[in-house]
Parts: sequence; C-alpha cells; structure tokens
Amino acid sequence: MDDIAICVAMIGLDENENLVVTACNNQFFQLTGSAGADIQSFPISFDALITDFAPREFREKLLAYFASGRPQGPEQTYDFREGRQWWRLSLKPIRHTSGRASVREILVTGFDIAAKMNLTRGLENNASRYRALVDLAYDAIVTMDHQHNITLFNRAAENLFGYSSAEVLGRPIVTLLPEKFRADHPRRVQQFADSYQPSLRQATPPRMDESNSVYAQHRDGSVIPVEIAVSKIDLEGGTEFMAIVRDITDRARLMELLKSQAATDALTGLPNRREFLEFIEKVLGTSDDLSVFILDIDLFKEINDQHGHDAGDEVLRMLAKVGASMTDGASLFARWGGEEFVAALPGADANLAYMIADELRQRYERQDFVHMWRLKPIPFTVSIGVVTREAGEVDVDALIKRADRALYRAKKSGRNRVVVG
Ligand code: GH3
Ligand code: MG
Ligand code: MG
Repeated sequence: MDDIAICVAMIGLDENENLVVTACNNQFFQLTGSAGADIQSFPISFDALITDFAPREFREKLLAYFASGRPQGPEQTYDFREGRQWWRLSLKPIRHTSGRASVREILVTGFDIAAKMNLTRGLENNASRYRALVDLAYDAIVTMDHQHNITLFNRAAENLFGYSSAEVLGRPIVTLLPEKFRADHPRRVQQFADSYQPSLRQATPPRMDESNSVYAQHRDGSVIPVEIAVSKIDLEGGTEFMAIVRDITDRARLMELLKSQAATDALTGLPNRREFLEFIEKVLGTSDDLSVFILDIDLFKEINDQHGHDAGDEVLRMLAKVGASMTDGASLFARWGGEEFVAALPGADANLAYMIADELRQRYERQDFVHMWRLKPIPFTVSIGVVTREAGEVDVDALIKRADRALYRAKKSGRNRVVVG
C-alpha cells in the first residue's frame, strides 16, 4: 500500500462517535502533515492525526457521511495547507461485518494535485496580470479573431471609441473604422499577416500605419487620427491580432501647426519663399501655362527712414493683404523676402499676367484699398517684373532670374511700372 502514489485510509467512528483512522498508508500521513510521526498502531484519533492542518471542510464531510450513510458525490479537491497542499479525495462509505457487529467506515482515496494546482494558479496569476495591464494601459488595446471580430476591448478603447466592451465584443473590427477604409481593411490585414515575422525583433513594434494616415472612427462618427502597433498571435483556436491604438489628435494638430508655420511668413501671414517654390515646382511638373511676377516696393528705404520701421512693416502687411486678395484660388501670392513679393499665376499667359500685375500696381499707387493706416496714409508704389513659362521650361531658378531681370529694367526705367521679360 505504501508503494502506490495515491493515499488510502479507512476512517471509522469509535464508541464516542469520534472520527478514527483504522488503517492508512504513508501517503495519507503525508496528506495529514504527520509523515514521520511515530505511529504505533491503529486506530488513531483523526483529530490527533490531523491537527492544525485539518480543513474543517474535510472533517465535516466525513461526519456528514456517517450521519447520512448515503454514498457521496464526485471526488473533491481539498486544500490541506493554506494553498500549498492540494489533494483530490474520494470518500466512499463502506459497510462490513466485524465479528457479529456491522461496522460502517469510509474509504478515503486520493492523490496529490499540488503540482497541477500550482500550475493552474500560475496561469491564473498570469491572466490576472495580463488583465490588469490591459486595463491600465493608456492606449486602446483591441484584439480580433481570424474572422476579424472583436475579442477584447480594454478601458482605454472604450474611452477612445465611445463603445462599451460588451457592445462591441463579437462585432466586426471595421465597426471602428471610418466608412471609406472598411472595404480595404481585410486586404491590409492579410498583407500585414503575410509580412509579419515575429522572429525578427524589430526596434519598434510592427505598424500598420506606415503611411501615417490611419484613422479610427468614434461611435459619434467623428474621425480620430491614430497610430497603430499590431501583433499577430497564433493560438490553438486560430490566429488573433492585437492592436494597440494611440490617439494622436494632439500630435496631428501640432504637426499641422508646425507645417503651416514652416510655410508661412510671420509678418504678413503670406506663404513664404519655400512654400512658393514648392508651388512653382509642382506646376512646372505639369505642362500647364504659368506666369510669375516679382514685385519690389519703390524706395522703401526712404519710407522706413521717413516714417519709421514699424510704419514700414505696416506697409508690408497692407501690400500683402491687397496682393493676396487680388490672386484667385489657383494662384499664389507670397513674400519672397524683405520688401519683395512674388506671385505664381498658373494658366495665365503673358498678356493676362501683365494685366493682373498692372492692376495691382495701380491699386497700390491709388491706395485703392481699405485704409487702415494708424497715422496718416503712407503713399508707396511698386515695380513689377513679369515672365511667362516657355514651352517645356522646367527650371525654377531660370524662371525667377528672368523675372528679376524684368524687375531690374522696371526700376531702371523709372519705377512704378510693370515690365514683361
Ligand atoms: P528700390 O526702389 O531700388 O527698391 O529702393 P529700396 O529702398 O526699396 O531698395 P533697398 O533694397 O535699398 O531697400 C530695401 C529696404 O527694405 C531696406 C530694408 O531695411 C527694408 N526692409 C526689408 N525688410 C523689411 C521689413 O521686414 N520691415 C521693414 N520695415 N523694412 C524692411
Ligand atoms: Mg528690394
Ligand atoms: Mg525696393
């Protein structure tokens, strides 16, 4: 009996109705915590054997069986030492005769499941940690199964998307996408899954938003710019995908602001030289007609000298406002630098460009605009050099140089005029 891995014990009642162990093997001593004790002979008092470790539950079960005499249900798991000694025990009432008397005893058999319980508890611990981590995360965490249905939706996801977890579990992941991205989503997931190589440890998590233009959709329909890191998880039941979704609205706004600041002249609010050149490059990439002019304020130094630098600034701002209002949606009026301005007029031939430039010049000369001079009006005039793109001309610098030469001639020939180069 001692060689087998299971514990076996016979438990009866003595004349005082106290539980006694009438026979058992070593494994049972181990279970009771009395292994190695000097046990002389059976019966042994149950309470003496199972002292401080005895679970009340086990003891009461035994007494209950004696009381009812009925066979009991399936085997049960008992914790014999505060979570460290787990045994699965089966209790079976037995009736046999000893001499003339009929004796009732309970056969206890069981096996040690501590190792298994520890493993289970370890897994449960990991699951608890995982759940805590997922719900603590600032970023939305969403998983989906191989059919692209949502299987996990953490608290941050509830905040980001405006749905409760219960509402979206089991629903298609595309529920969380703006309408226009839904149709293409399965293909993108497939593409990602095919290229996903978890063995390659990347410096940053794999992302589905290389284009930097991934958007999620809130329950209320609003579109949220997001950054997404995705991982593919192979589970027994199939493949799952986990996405960590970060709201980058603030960053996107900041980027927009920086971008517009980088493209804007601070004094006048006009597009700056860089923006202008980019614009021209784009037009030169097509075969469209294009005219360009450079405008320079006449004797601006004298204005500064006479009225002060601040007044000079005001002239620049005024000029900018009028210039921007003169050019329509397709064209661009920009500050080139100092008191020089440029305009790009796509689709305009030399005649039209001259007319536009000369009309502008006349408006400045006549001060034909809403006056906002802080003191008295400051008269000023401008000189303008106009050029038109030659067939096949693609060089920005050459175009600007020609316009500059036309401007120089306008200055040379008396200022306050437009010269076509
Ligand atoms: P011209 O008719 O030959 O163009 O004469 P000009 O005096 O306009 O030419 P010049 O290039 O000698 O002088 C340009 C002046 O523009 C000099 C500079 O102090 C002034 N200026 C450049 N940028 C600014 C600015 O942002 N604000 C003000 N107030 N003045 C500026
Ligand atoms: Mg100048
Ligand atoms: Mg000037």
